[in-house]
Amino acid sequence: MSLFLSAAAVSIACSVCLIVFPVSAAQPASWSAPHAPVRLGERTWYVGTAGISVLVVRGEAGSILLDTGVPASAEAVLANLDAVGVRPEDVKAIVTSHAHADHVGAIAAIRARTGARVHALEASASLLADGGRNDLFFGDDLPYPPAEVDVRIGDGDAVTVGDVSLRAHATPGHTPGSTTWTWADTVEGKPVTMVFADSLTAPGYRLVDDPRAADTVAQFRRAFATLRALPCDVLVTPHPEASGLFERIEAGTLIDATACARYADRTEAALDAQIAKQAAE
Ligand SMILES: [Zn+2]
Repeated sequence: MSLFLSAAAVSIACSVCLIVFPVSAAQPASWSAPHAPVRLGERTWYVGTAGISVLVVRGEAGSILLDTGVPASAEAVLANLDAVGVRPEDVKAIVTSHAHADHVGAIAAIRARTGARVHALEASASLLADGGRNDLFFGDDLPYPPAEVDVRIGDGDAVTVGDVSLRAHATPGHTPGSTTWTWADTVEGKPVTMVFADSLTAPGYRLVDDPRAADTVAQFRRAFATLRALPCDVLVTPHPEASGLFERIEAGTLIDATACARYADRTEAALDAQIAKQAAE
C-alpha cells in the first residue's frame, strides 16, 4: 500500500530538513530504501530502512519491535527480522515512537503478519486508531492504514515479553502521544541503557499565537527535561540522521552517556529559534 502524500505535506512532516525529495516520489527515497540489519547490542538490532529506524529487541520468550516504518516497508522489515533470526511469530509486542506515517505506516500489516500485540499510550492509541487522521497539526494530510491498539499503557509503564522489558517515557510535543523507550542491553561486554528517543521537532508547527501552541510548547519543555534525566548510554532516534546514528556506529562512538542530553539541548535550541522567528514575524 502506498502513501498518498503531497510533497508539501511530506516536506513539513520530515523531522530533519536536509532530506532531498525525489521529484517524482511522494516521500524521501531513503524512507523505503533497504538497509542491512545492524547489531546495536547483544539483543538489539536495527532492522529499519536507510532513513527510518525500526528496532527489535530479542529475548528468550519472544521479541519486541519498536516502530515499523512506512506502509511500503512491511516486507523489508520482515525480511530484516528473518535475517537476524526473528520469525514473524516470534514478535510478541509492537511499540511506537509516535503515530506518524513514516514510523507506524506498516503497523497494521506487521501486526496482522506477526500476531503481535500493539502497546501504546492513550494519546498515541487514538492517532493509531485514526490512521494518522485528526492529527493536531497535520489534520488528515498524512494517513496510513489504521491499527488497533491491544494494550493501553501509562507513562512509566513497562512492556514485558519474557526476559525483555521496555519502559515507556512520555515525551510529548512532536505528537501528544510521543514516547521514548529505554531497556537494558549489553554492548562490548558492558551493561548499558538503550534509549529510543522520539522526535523532538516541530516541523511546520505554529508555536506562537495559536490555541494549540501553549500546550505543545509546555509539552516539549517537559520532554526535554525527561530526556536529560534519563539514564542513557546508547541513543537511537526514529530518523537515524537526527542523532547521526550511522556515523556514530562507523566512528565506534555508539556508547555516549551525554548523547541524550545533547540531543535535548540541540532540539530545544531549534525550538527556541523557531518560536523567536515566529514571534518576530
Ligand atoms: Zn513525525
